[in-house]
Amino acid sequence: MNVADSHRLASALEKMGYEPTRQPHHADVIVLNTCVVRQSAEDKAIGRLSSLRPLKDRNPNLVVNLMGCLIGVRGNQKILERFPWVDVVSPPSDPEPLIRYLVERSAKQTSQINQAQINALLDGDIILPKADQGRLVSAFIPIVYGCSHACTYCIIPSKRGIEHSRPYDEILNEVNSFARQGVKEVTLLGQIVDRYGLDLPEPTTLSALLHDLHKIEGIKRIRFLTSHPNWMTDELLEAVQTLPKVCPHIEVPIQSGDDVILKAMRRGYTVNAYRDLIARIRQRIPDVAIATDIIVGFPGETPEQFDNTYALLADLRMDVAHLARYSPRDGTFSARKLVDDVSDAEKTRRFRKLEELQEEIASEINARLLGKTVNVLFEAQKRGRWRGRTPTNKLVFVDSPHDLLGQERSVTIEWTGPWSLIGTLTS
Ligand code: SAH
Repeated sequence: MNVADSHRLASALEKMGYEPTRQPHHADVIVLNTCVVRQSAEDKAIGRLSSLRPLKDRNPNLVVNLMGCLIGVRGNQKILERFPWVDVVSPPSDPEPLIRYLVERSAKQTSQINQAQINALLDGDIILPKADQGRLVSAFIPIVYGCSHACTYCIIPSKRGIEHSRPYDEILNEVNSFARQGVKEVTLLGQIVDRYGLDLPEPTTLSALLHDLHKIEGIKRIRFLTSHPNWMTDELLEAVQTLPKVCPHIEVPIQSGDDVILKAMRRGYTVNAYRDLIARIRQRIPDVAIATDIIVGFPGETPEQFDNTYALLADLRMDVAHLARYSPRDGTFSARKLVDDVSDAEKTRRFRKLEELQEEIASEINARLLGKTVNVLFEAQKRGRWRGRTPTNKLVFVDSPHDLLGQERSVTIEWTGPWSLIGTLTS
C-alpha cells in the first residue's frame, strides 16, 4: 500500500519538475512514508525520522514530509510535538498536503494558488516516475482503502480509516494507463480485498473487476491481496480458475490455529471453517499457491493453543507463512483490554518453531518443481542475475546475458530452496 501511495506522490512531484535522488543530502524534499503495524515498524520510522534532523539543520530550506500511518487519518499531535521540524504531515494514501504545501510555497502571492492547479497535479494518470519508466514490470494498485473489520490486535482501521472502495472506472483507467507505460503485472490491494465494491453506490465485486481487468492488453498477470476467509466467494475462486491472467496465488491469513484465540482476535471464523476454505480453494484451483499470516504470542495464548497453530500449519502446508510476534498497538482493543502476557523469549521461541516448520514445508513444496518447466515473468536484474516470479509467486533466478526485463519466458528449474529457485531459459 505504501509503495503504491509513494508512487502516486512521486508522479505528482515529477509533474511539478522535481527529480528523484538517492542522496538524502541532495534532496529539496524528503518524504518519509511510514508503517506502524508492529512496534518494530514504528521504531524504524522514528529512527529514520530522527536521522533526518541533521540534514534539516544544515539546510533549512529542506522540506520534510511525514506521511502514512505514523500520522494516520486522525493526525498525531504527539509526533508533531516530538518532531517540530517536520514541515508537512500527510495521512496514508493522501499526496495532497505535500503538493499543496509546495505549490503554496512557490507561489508569490497566496491569491495565485488555486485548487485547479493542485488537482491537475494529483488527478489523471499516474505518470510513472522517471526511474521506473520502461522498467517497472509489476505495479501495486490500491482498490480498497482503509478497513472496518477491527481485529482486536490491529491498528490499521484507526490509522487508515473506514473501508472504502475506489471507483471501478478509476481502477480500470489506472491499470490501462500503467499498461500503456509498459507495466505487465498488477497486484490489487486492500486489507480485505475480496470485499471490493460492496460499499460502492453501485455495488460490484472483485470478480467483476477481475473480468474487466483481464481484457486490458499488455497486462499479462493479475494478483490480489489480502483476502479474508469470510469473503472468498465461489464466484471469486471461479474467476481465478477461469481467467488465465489471474494468477493461482491466494493470500489468506489464518492468524491462529486455535478457536479461542481466533475469537479473542475477533477474526470471525473458526479453524474448521478455514480448513474448509483451503480445501475449497485447492479443489477449484489446481496447483494454487496459498500464503497465510500468523501471529504468535497473542495475549493469553497458552503453549497448547500455540501447538494447535503449529499442528494446523504442519497439516495445511502453505506455500508461504508470514509470521509475526504479537505487538500491542496503542488504541487497539487488545492493547487496552488484554494483558500482553507471553514473554518476548516465549514469543521468539514460538516464532522460531513455526519458522523452522515453514522452511521444511516450503523446501518440500518447491522441490517438486525440480526439473520442471515454469513460466517466469522477469522483473529485475541484480548482480548479473535476472529475477522473476512464477504465476504462483515463487522467486526464480536465472543467469542470462539477454535482456529479459518484462518478458515471460519458460524456465527449467535446476535448484530449489525454501525461499527461491534457480533455473535456465528453456526457450
Ligand atoms: N488486512 C490484512 C493484513 C493486515 S497487516 C489481514 O487481514 O490480515 C499484515 C499482518 O500483520 C497481519 O496479517 C498480521 O499477521 C500482522 N499484524 C497485524 N497487527 C499485528 C500486531 N498488533 N502484532 C503482530 N502482528 C500484527
